[in-house]
Amino acid sequence: MKLSFRPYTVELKHVFTIATNSRTSTPVMLTEIEHDGIKGYGEASMPPYLGESHESVASFLSEVDLKQFNDPFEMEKILKYVDSIAEGNTAAKAAVDIALHDLVGKLLNNSWYKIWGYDRTNTPSTSYTIGIDTEKMVRKKVMEAGEYKILKVKLGRDNDKEMIETIRSVTDKPLFVDANQGWKVKEDALEMIHWLYERGVELVEQPMPKEMIDETAWLTERSPIPTIADEFMQRLDDVIRAHGVYSGINIKLMKCTGMREAHKMLTLARSLKMKVMLGCMTETSCAISAASQLAPQVDWADLDGNLLISNDPFEGTKIVDGKIILTDNPGIGLEN
Ligand code: MG
Repeated sequence: MKLSFRPYTVELKHVFTIATNSRTSTPVMLTEIEHDGIKGYGEASMPPYLGESHESVASFLSEVDLKQFNDPFEMEKILKYVDSIAEGNTAAKAAVDIALHDLVGKLLNNSWYKIWGYDRTNTPSTSYTIGIDTEKMVRKKVMEAGEYKILKVKLGRDNDKEMIETIRSVTDKPLFVDANQGWKVKEDALEMIHWLYERGVELVEQPMPKEMIDETAWLTERSPIPTIADEFMQRLDDVIRAHGVYSGINIKLMKCTGMREAHKMLTLARSLKMKVMLGCMTETSCAISAASQLAPQVDWADLDGNLLISNDPFEGTKIVDGKIILTDNPGIGLEN
């Protein structure tokens, strides 16, 4: 097998602001694994706050020697080797994992949701993210999101109630809230959650800093809506750490090293009776289509990363009337 990669930059349609930063583009790395004339496609997305970059991913991928493997179906062995090359580098690892899944799915002439035995009619609607912005821009973004059934609102700054009131002045759609660790006092967070619940908010992602474990467990016990771990979560072991602290977990391919580990996390969380959300970074339809193969098994999906960009080089999973529609294409479901 042969791995190749090239840097790409996805351009955002709007400046994107969350509690900790703003940006207009995101660096990604596009990968290919070729075997017997068949190509699998993958991607790493590197939002700057997660610490990976074009340079770090290129350097990691240069270390990956897939020529030593002749059988792409030895996925456990191959991906264990990739994981052992260096600590961290989870997006770089995901770029190999996704390309390998695409290749193996193509060799089987089946898409991964089918290989996993999922029913594609069970995919949830995706939420569409509204970043922190001025009142006028927030109204504009909500109007543009007409097709989407659920809006995700980024909170955790000093204008949280104004953001919600602005959105509520133009729509009564269900809302997800992502505080991105922005609330520091548990009693205040609980009061805020009750206020949000009364305004049709259905879940809250990462309400408090990830280190505040006891406070978050206290909050989850009293919260009228599910609390979802995001910044707290990376890989399989974190599912155990989140159990009893949060109501559910957010799984993101770029943080958990890809589809194979994501599938294990989903299975483990389900057996622990935890809720599961599927998330993403700003990324192309390549990584979004890969993540969407798991969508039939999750409670909520926040797979809007490709909808927020203006230069998507791929076509794959579509959103029709707000709902995730998986294609019949083999592998991760891309059009070739
Ligand atoms: Mg989040």
